[in-house]
Amino acid sequence: MSNPYSWLNKSLDTIHRANWYRSVKAIASKPGAVIELEGKPVINFASNDYLGLASDQRLIDAAVAATQAYGTGSTGSRLLSGHKELHRELEQAIAALKQTEDALVFSSGYLANLGTISALVGQQDLIVGDRYNHSSLKKGAILSGAAAINYLHNDLVDLQDKLINHRALYRRCLIATDSVFSMDGDLCLLPELLAIAEEFACMLLVDEAHATGVMGSTGAGCVEHYNCTGKTLIQVGTLSKALGSLGGYVAGSAELIDFLRNRAATWIYTTALSPADTAAALTGIEIVQQEPHRKEQLWHNINYLKQRLSHLELLPSQSPILCLQLDTPKTALNLAQRLIGAGIFAPAIRPPTVPTSRIRLSLMATHEQHHLEMLIENLDRYWSYGNQKNIKS
Ligand SMILES: *Cc1c(COP(=O)(O)O)cnc(C)c1O
Repeated sequence: MSNPYSWLNKSLDTIHRANWYRSVKAIASKPGAVIELEGKPVINFASNDYLGLASDQRLIDAAVAATQAYGTGSTGSRLLSGHKELHRELEQAIAALKQTEDALVFSSGYLANLGTISALVGQQDLIVGDRYNHSSLKKGAILSGAAAINYLHNDLVDLQDKLINHRALYRRCLIATDSVFSMDGDLCLLPELLAIAEEFACMLLVDEAHATGVMGSTGAGCVEHYNCTGKTLIQVGTLSKALGSLGGYVAGSAELIDFLRNRAATWIYTTALSPADTAAALTGIEIVQQEPHRKEQLWHNINYLKQRLSHLELLPSQSPILCLQLDTPKTALNLAQRLIGAGIFAPAIRPPTVPTSRIRLSLMATHEQHHLEMLIENLDRYWSYGNQKNIKS
């Protein structure tokens, strides 16, 4: 008899040969601009903790106090025994930040997308999504059973073509996009997408995971950045990036949220967010609103680094995510390896996560000038040693 698991080994072999293999690396310190990675301090350009809140003492204290008061686990789903006033306070804080009627918190951003998309559309419906959308939007589309079509990245003509050809064949239609594209750092074209959604009678879902706390004058996200606050749309996001905690959310009309409480399976059939995560996220939102200097420092760092790296092949970015393009997975891995040797953690991102290999840098408000100088120096050194490709001509 053949071994029914033998394909696993073959499959892993293929992954290795393509240089697609990944493994985890343990971080032995608190989050921050400098972390301890495999026993060694490195400057961290790989974190989503844009404002440095994940190690903020006030979030830690809030999590500890909530744990003391309510325990470690929520013990049940929100609709059964898991709901606490703290969850509602967090939802109201999210709705206030986003200036929406209501919000709903999920156990993660990934689950928020799976649950929301699969509740909003089904087999008679259509989803049209940006080709570069986050995995959670794509998997949500598959889970929903709707017909799913991708349009070329940020290509409004292609989106309109797809809608002209397909929209009339379906009942409901959802356009879905990241607002800050997580592996590229550019933004969706929100005002145009809103206009197209209206023209073709589509719902619009934007994933603000990398934008909340980072974009817009109060940190509300790209919707605010584009002056689209108050427009009818579905905003999804995470509590796990700039807000420094864990969890996801959906913000929108009272009707939408009421509907999701009754139909989003990843909210109904899972345990409520833990007291610690809930309280930390609530404190994170308060700090975003009360301490705008954090966001200002982040943007100062972004603008400075972009200007100093302007001679390299950077992907277009309007966010803390800056990507250096490289030809092959191998060159990207080599550069990442060298940087680690120099005490800089800037990971290589390769297919199949993205279509082309790159070093992905993400900036934080807590990066200091000398951290940025170290990075610049090491990149310049790499490119001056005959690695002339990927320098702009
Ligand atoms: C990180 C991310 C998510 C997932 O959020 P989690 O809370 O980490 O599950 C969803 N969408 C986008 C665009 C993301 O970048």
